[in-house]
Amino acid sequence: MREARSEVETSPRITTEPKRPVAPQAFVAPNFDDEVPKRPPSPLANRPPPTVHKKDRTHLVALGDSLSQVDAKVRTCTQCDLHKERTQTVFSRGTGSSGLCFVGEGPGAEEDAQGKPFVGAAGQLLDKMIIAMGLSPEEVYVCNVVKCRPPNNRRPTPAEMTSCSAYLERQLELLNPQVIVALGGTAVAGLLGITDGITRVRGKFRLYQGRIAVMPTFHPAYLLRNPAAKRQVWTDLRQVLSHMGRELPSKT
Ligand code: SF4
Repeated sequence: MREARSEVETSPRITTEPKRPVAPQAFVAPNFDDEVPKRPPSPLANRPPPTVHKKDRTHLVALGDSLSQVDAKVRTCTQCDLHKERTQTVFSRGTGSSGLCFVGEGPGAEEDAQGKPFVGAAGQLLDKMIIAMGLSPEEVYVCNVVKCRPPNNRRPTPAEMTSCSAYLERQLELLNPQVIVALGGTAVAGLLGITDGITRVRGKFRLYQGRIAVMPTFHPAYLLRNPAAKRQVWTDLRQVLSHMGRELPSKT
């Protein structure tokens, strides 16, 4: 499983928090009722759209009218050098019927082998997060900014992200999710063009293309190494549930 990226900054709050005895792969919804507003102020009201990420859209033409058609295009794509070392492309998993979409960085070794995103240890933790939200993994759409595994699990370059961006755009256009959760700084950069680092931007809604709510939060791979950050992620996910009008999970 790919490791958390170097751009995932270490927040002072993280380092000063007391160690919590959380099992390495468990996602336990913390009890934060005293710390998190039941209904945060409308995060999208009067918020200007983010700066639009400049992209090469030339291969967006004729991508297809369905997600399966876009997937078929991706499978034969050679738009960037990532195609040279991939075992297979990694498009998505889940239906997205809940209106919720998670976007990560790119496939790791296990994803490259299986052809599905988030199937390793971080993916198992992501599923526990989804279940803690009262949803099933099947009703959530999961994909990545790039569809082919970067060699040695490195971060995709800006050029690779730009080459692949049309596919993500088309996926989201067809899916039209109610909320996107951006997992990690690379996902935030790919979706919003914001490169400030995930620690600075997490926890506050942004808008994708001026219309879809995006909640940036930490990548599950980061949580595997920094379990204390689960508290912050849970705070972010509770905001997502509130925005979706879903009932907040009871205390655990
Ligand atoms: Fe094509 Fe995206 Fe794979 Fe690059 S990463 S080859 S743009 S599908």
